[in-house]
Amino acid sequence: MVVRVAVNGYGTIGKRVADAIARQSDMELVGVSKTRPSSEARMARDRGYPLYVAGEGKPEEFRAAGLEVSGTLSDLLSKCDVVVDCAPEKQGLANKALYDRVGVRAIWQGGEKAHIAEHSFNALANYRECLGAHRLRVVSCNTTGIARAGAILQRAYGVEHWEVTVVRRAADPGESRKGPINGILPTFTLPSHHGPDVRTVLPDLPIATTAVVVPTTLMHVHVNHVRLRDPPSQEEAIREEFRKHPRFVLFQDWQHIEGTPQVIEWARDLGRSRNDVMENVLWSSGIRLEGKDLYFFQAIHQESIVVPENIDAIRAMFQLETDPLVSMARTDRSLGILPTAAPQGSSPSRE
Ligand code: NAD
Repeated sequence: MVVRVAVNGYGTIGKRVADAIARQSDMELVGVSKTRPSSEARMARDRGYPLYVAGEGKPEEFRAAGLEVSGTLSDLLSKCDVVVDCAPEKQGLANKALYDRVGVRAIWQGGEKAHIAEHSFNALANYRECLGAHRLRVVSCNTTGIARAGAILQRAYGVEHWEVTVVRRAADPGESRKGPINGILPTFTLPSHHGPDVRTVLPDLPIATTAVVVPTTLMHVHVNHVRLRDPPSQEEAIREEFRKHPRFVLFQDWQHIEGTPQVIEWARDLGRSRNDVMENVLWSSGIRLEGKDLYFFQAIHQESIVVPENIDAIRAMFQLETDPLVSMARTDRSLGILPTAAPQGSSPSRE
C-alpha cells in the first residue's frame, strides 16, 4: 500500500516533513499548501511538489509571482489519505473542522492541545497504542526529546522522580521578530507545560519540568536529574542503554563538541540537509550516575527532531508496519540517521 499524504502548512516543520515523505517508498506526497507566495513556495514548486492555496490565500497572487497552483486546500484534501497539519500553533484546531468535513485522517503537531487527536504520538514511547488511529498529534520538540529518553529509562530501570530544566531557544533561525536578544527569561508557569505534555505519551512518568528562554536559535538543552527505581551498578550501562536505541547521538570527549554550536557545525560538516539533527544529542561525559541519581544533559534540534516521528506516525496510523523499531529503522535509513551505536561522524548510509 502507498499512502497518499498532503502537508498543510509549508514552514519550518512542514517543508522538512514534506521532504521526508518524498523519500518514503510506502508514501506519496500529493501536495503541499501555502497561504501566500514566497521563496519557500517557489522551493516547493522547484522540488516538484504540487502547490495548493491554503487559508485566506489568493491563487491570483501566486500566479502573479509566477507560481502555478494546482487548486485550493479542499482540492488537495480530496486527493489524500492523510493530511499532516504543519500550520502555525492553534491554527491546526481551526483546520480540524475542514478535515472532519472531508473525512480525511489527520496528524497535528505539538502546538495543538492533546485533545485534538485520539492519541499523542512518540515512536519509542507509544507507537503500538497508535496503530490504526485516525487522528494523531506528534508531540512538540522538547516533549519528543524527553519522551524518547523517558521511554528508555522507564523501561530499563523504572523512574521514581525526574526533574528537567528546559533551556529553550528563543526563536528558530529564520524568525527575526522574536526575542530576547539579551536576557534570560524564566517561564513563570511552574512547573512548565512540558511535564504534563510528556505524560500524554508516557502517562506514568513522574516528571516535573521548569523552563527558561535564552537568546539562541540553534537548539534547546535539557538539564536532567532522574531518580531511578532500580539503577544499574555501572554508569556505563546507562550509555549502553542509550546506544541500543535509535535516534540518539553520544559525543565523546575527543570530538570536542562542547555545546550546541559544535553540534550544528558537525551537522553542517556531515552535509545534512538544513543542518538538521533529528537525534537526541547526549555527551558521554554529560552522563553521571551516583547511586540512584542519574544526571544528564541532552540537546534538541527544535526544527527537525519531530520529522522522523511524523513519518512513523503515518506508518502506525495505516498499520504499514506494526513493529516500532522496524518502522524507525526504515525511516532513519531513508533520512540518513545512523543507528546510535554506529561510529559518530561517519557519513549517512542511504536506502
Ligand atoms: P511556521 O510558522 O514556521 O510554519 C507554518 C506555516 O504554515 C507557514 O508557512 C505559514 O505561512 C503557514 N500557514 C499559516 N496559516 C495557515 C493556514 N491557515 N493553513 C495552512 N498553513 C498556514 O511554524 P512551524 O514552526 O513549522 O510550526 C508548525 C507546528 O509545528 C506548530 O504546531 C508548532 O508548535 C510545531 N512545532 C514547531 C517546532 C519549531 O521549533 N519550529 C518544533 C516542533 C513542533
